[in-house]
Amino acid sequence: MQKRIAIIGGGIVGATAAYYLSTLPGAQHLKVTLYDDGNGQASKAAAGIISPWLSKRRNQQWYRLAKDGADLYPQLVHDAQLGTEVYQQTGTIVTRAALPDLEALDALAQERQKTAPTMGTVQQLTAQEVQAKLPLLTNPQAGVFLSGGAKVDGGALVDALLTQASHKNLTVRRERVKLDQDENVVTSLGAQRFDRVIIAAGAWLPELLVPLHVRTDVRAQKGQLIELAVKDYPLQENLPVLMPEGERDFVPFGHGKLIVGATHEDDKHFDLSLDAAVTADLLASAQRLMSGLTDQNITGVRVGTRAYTSDFAPFFGPLPEHDRFLVASGLGSSGLTTGPQIGRLLAGSALYGGTPDWRNYEKPLATYLTSSLA
Ligand SMILES: Cc1cc2nc3c(=O)[nH]c(=O)nc-3n(C[C@H](O)[C@H](O)[C@H](O)COP(=O)(O)OP(=O)(O)OC[C@H]3O[C@@H](n4cnc5c(N)ncnc54)[C@H](O)[C@@H]3O)c2cc1C
Repeated sequence: MQKRIAIIGGGIVGATAAYYLSTLPGAQHLKVTLYDDGNGQASKAAAGIISPWLSKRRNQQWYRLAKDGADLYPQLVHDAQLGTEVYQQTGTIVTRAALPDLEALDALAQERQKTAPTMGTVQQLTAQEVQAKLPLLTNPQAGVFLSGGAKVDGGALVDALLTQASHKNLTVRRERVKLDQDENVVTSLGAQRFDRVIIAAGAWLPELLVPLHVRTDVRAQKGQLIELAVKDYPLQENLPVLMPEGERDFVPFGHGKLIVGATHEDDKHFDLSLDAAVTADLLASAQRLMSGLTDQNITGVRVGTRAYTSDFAPFFGPLPEHDRFLVASGLGSSGLTTGPQIGRLLAGSALYGGTPDWRNYEKPLATYLTSSLA
């Protein structure tokens, strides 16, 4: 018998869930409909850094999830036959001004490398060696290079996964939907009943769950970055990502496109307006590392809305007391890294059922979701 599955939200979580629901064994028995209005989507605004290994976060569940997310990428990219314009392991450079800090970072990298093969090789670089790898820099600092660090174009990845799934069992509907208290998805065609519903609505999860009387510990955060046109290095199309101490991250894509960002604006919530002062601040950060830049180099500004929880950790899984629904949110500033792993796990759960045990990756969902009737 055919099983009907809905996905609400077509960012990285919804798109990878849709992709796996079209490829996992048993997918031929599924009819999947994804609803997405795309407004404010974090995934297509994101900088695209996949390099969680040197994070200072102490949350071990988050680290395992992010590490496994980074590990999943090469397999996903291979299976979905995606090109280097979508995902590329070019390495990441993390810099430190003070030598003791650099040594400590190097020691952490050597330690984490033992259990994270995707991280690749670890190499301490002088400022000159950093500049040789990233000739755009005129004011380099010494750093640690991780050869497995990667960059991903979030918008291109989401589009490619949805296109592939659409060739199999997926229908994409570009519209905003709601839930009703009878657990239907309310669409422009009326209330629809699905066997399972994956709610991958990012920062918009709280409003969706109101009719189910579920209160959600998720808040919205504005993130902005700038795109710059800089000198092209045609013989070095694999320029590494730079995560400089005290400055914004540099993400060089091919053909002289450089992304610099991003901001974390807690007080702006769902605001998507462009802010000239923020653009100037991002440019100033880039100028401190790279001379000769002016606002003439800016070719675009991207704005998106991230979802955050009180402990900055993501959550995902079956919605307590509403088994029809699986939810995910709170991916914060590392959601392109953790998102594919979350989407894959949710797809498996929607398809095969059972009670998943994801204690390795997250706290119980009751930490983030409570009844508004209590
Ligand atoms: C500026 C910026 C830079 C970032 N840089 C990085 C980075 O370098 N590395 C990294 O790992 N992460 C990064 N992130 C974080 C990452 O982008 C997010 O954590 C991740 O994309 C969240 O994915 P998601 O699928 O949960 O939500 P989203 O991508 O926000 O997708 C949710 C979708 O659901 C849709 N939706 C919501 N409600 C409804 C509804 N009722 N009906 C229909 N559709 C609905 C929305 O329109 C949206 O399209 C960055 C984020 C920003 C904003």
